[in-house]
Amino acid sequence: KAKNAEQPEFIQAVTEVLESLQPVIEAHPEYEAASLLERIVEPERVVMFRVPWVDDDGKVQVNRGFRVQFNSAIGPYKGGLRFHPSVNLGIIKFLGFEQIFKNSLTTLPMGGGKGGCDFDPKGKSDMEVMRFCQSFMTELARHIGADTDVPAGDIGVGGREIGYMFGQYKKIKDVFEGVLTGKGLSYGGSLARTQATGYGLVYIVEEYLKCNGDSFQGKTVDISGSGNVAIYAAEKAQQLGAKVVTMSDSTGWIYDENGIDIALIKQVKEVERARISEYAARREGVVYHEGRGVWAIPCDIALPCATQNELHLEDAQSLVANGAKVVAEGANMPTTLDATVYLQQQGVVFLPGKAANAGGVATSGLEMSQNSERLSWTFEEVDAKLKDIMVSIFHAIDDASRRYGHEGNYVMGANIAGFEKVADAMMAQGIV
Ligand code: NDP
Repeated sequence: KAKNAEQPEFIQAVTEVLESLQPVIEAHPEYEAASLLERIVEPERVVMFRVPWVDDDGKVQVNRGFRVQFNSAIGPYKGGLRFHPSVNLGIIKFLGFEQIFKNSLTTLPMGGGKGGCDFDPKGKSDMEVMRFCQSFMTELARHIGADTDVPAGDIGVGGREIGYMFGQYKKIKDVFEGVLTGKGLSYGGSLARTQATGYGLVYIVEEYLKCNGDSFQGKTVDISGSGNVAIYAAEKAQQLGAKVVTMSDSTGWIYDENGIDIALIKQVKEVERARISEYAARREGVVYHEGRGVWAIPCDIALPCATQNELHLEDAQSLVANGAKVVAEGANMPTTLDATVYLQQQGVVFLPGKAANAGGVATSGLEMSQNSERLSWTFEEVDAKLKDIMVSIFHAIDDASRRYGHEGNYVMGANIAGFEKVADAMMAQGIV
């Protein structure tokens, strides 16, 4: 802890994982002799670099870029890039650490990594975003490759940014390879990648419900965020018969008692890149509030899809008081530790992000396979594979929770099931 004192999110993520691995560690004394845990919490490599670029006024701006190559025991490093002013080493390390186990859960051969920059894309022109992305990739290009490290999008990095970065990588390296995922369809992207995280989140909840004789039909759902994950979670939940009544952004949130109008939210957020208040302005009967508050709205299922630590203890208390039965994390670590514990104690089914939002990286893995084959699969093929993966993740975490005597504790189940394969590979590969 002392070594990483300035990295609270990293310590939070590691604490949660290590606590739930206790029974596995006790069952495997050989791990201690090999200092497996000490090795797994230390990234294999961290790259931190200057990103200089010129804004539209001709002024030089300087940002700080990161790539944390955390663990390559089961495959090339894989994980998104986040562009947001809050980005720092601790946040990228927490995300990279979680990514190891998430990628392992997908059943695909991908190691864990994460990267990003403290650049704020909000209010920047297209050309500024392009110049920034080119500068970022000029340095990153020397550290990545289709068989080494394959970054993807995350907060602030969507199709536009991936396109600019891919173009720059190709120019520098003179190779056309699947070095990034989340690419446009015209240059190697996969159908259904845009939808994958949100759809996958709903598929895993659907599987849980199905195993308990229930479904999304008629359920009321609270969603936070209004980005990539939130929009497609809302779309799939409503396709399955639920009503999504809330969404938010970092300035405010909306309550739409008739259920979110998916076409309108896509127009506002994806096409116009406007604020969520604009959605309320254009749709009758929708209430807009400044600040946070989605979790105060009664629901059956809550899907936090915005950012880390956005669902606090008091939010969990109000969800429970209003009768919520399931919380599944679309974002990475949106629920604070005390809120997670409270929800579990109150009997709310809690599906952690590591498992619940793994559909995005799983589909990125499918994009890598298509690039290697130089083939493109249909939307239906990719969507069906995504659904199979989410179903198998649910059963893997459910099974792990039972094997270690904590049936229904999916935080433990996800950590254990994700860890087992990585631990096995690390043991087999010696002290490296
Ligand atoms: P986007 O950038 O598309 O959207 C993020 C959304 O969250 C925006 O609506 C944003 O609002 C909102 N938000 C950000 N910070 C806050 C805050 N402090 N309070 C309230 N709302 C906030 O990102 P994604 O949808 O891609 O990612 C969302 C989460 O899901 C992240 O945790 C990400 O790591 C995780 N994730 C994403 C995957 C993917 O495939 N995209 C895969 C797995 C996990 P605003 O516009 O105001 O910033």
